[in-house]
Amino acid sequence: MRATGGPDSGPPPNIADNRGSRTGRRPPPGRASLIQGLPPMFSYRHGFHAGNHADVLKHVVLVHLLDYLRQKDKPFWFIDTHAGGGSYALDSGYAAKSQEFRGGIAKLWDAKDLPDAVAAYVNEVRRFNPEGALRQYPGSPQIALQMVRREDRLRLFELHPSETKVLDVFSADAGRQVMVQATDGFTALNAVLPPPPRRALTLIDPSYEDKNDYRSVTRAMTNALERFATGVYLVWYPQVQRRESERLPEQLRRLAGEGSWLHASLSVSKPADDGFGLHGSGVFVFNPPWTLDAAMRKALPALKRLLAQDASADFSIDGRQV
Ligand code: SAM
Repeated sequence: MRATGGPDSGPPPNIADNRGSRTGRRPPPGRASLIQGLPPMFSYRHGFHAGNHADVLKHVVLVHLLDYLRQKDKPFWFIDTHAGGGSYALDSGYAAKSQEFRGGIAKLWDAKDLPDAVAAYVNEVRRFNPEGALRQYPGSPQIALQMVRREDRLRLFELHPSETKVLDVFSADAGRQVMVQATDGFTALNAVLPPPPRRALTLIDPSYEDKNDYRSVTRAMTNALERFATGVYLVWYPQVQRRESERLPEQLRRLAGEGSWLHASLSVSKPADDGFGLHGSGVFVFNPPWTLDAAMRKALPALKRLLAQDASADFSIDGRQV
């Protein structure tokens, strides 16, 4: 099976249905995000969070970047260091339990007059739900598979055995176009950079359940920029009440040095008094296309309006284009 071309070219290729706090802290009882008794890495399941406000922000940017890259008549690689399960059922399993998607994609599903970048993202989710109802959510590998061309490649890294099993099915269907490796994505990134076509989008999207993930992100980005300075890199991070999370954007900005970068964040509510929960998230893009800034300046006010859970919802955008 190969990826389809344009945004309206029919039902997309499908990763098998798959069924995790992305908060950097163990959630209180009743928040079924971390699975009891397992170390953070193996207890986190992205299915709990599929389609929530943080996925929306990340995937709006992802769709814009993939769309930009595919407009040039040269192949590129999509590298996903933390791929997750590829796609997620919303009407059963983890997502149905957590219902987090109701505060994310569900609020955009029937919205009218969306800014272009948000509409393009919703269109990709719609392509993954060809019957019209919102029943499943495409993770980053599925979004990429839907959007890339025959000549482009997906390189997916994931450590959780259950998620890699699903991704293996996906790669078997997609043939040579997709390669899945059950390995540490931070380390593996070195091995694939620079990619043969010298064009790539790398998504770095850890769960941050392990606070070492923050240091691993800056280390991976330092190495990646040394090996392949011109690549496009999308780093997602949670807005949680933790020093590491607050410092990360500034550390990434320093790594960007004199290069181009864009930093956008979206918070949907005020931080919870008990410190738990994800009230917002941010994305930092190295070497963004020139189109991203304008697209996000239109997208973010709409996302704030549609996804706000209380009056403290807010967004920020900052960057430099050289
Ligand atoms: N990128 C996905 C998307 O946008 O749909 C979501 C990824 S989820 C936030 C993070 C994933 O990273 C989890 O599935 C987790 O099992 C996996 N993971 C955790 N540590 C990892 C590591 N060192 N290398 C690769 N994958 C890892």
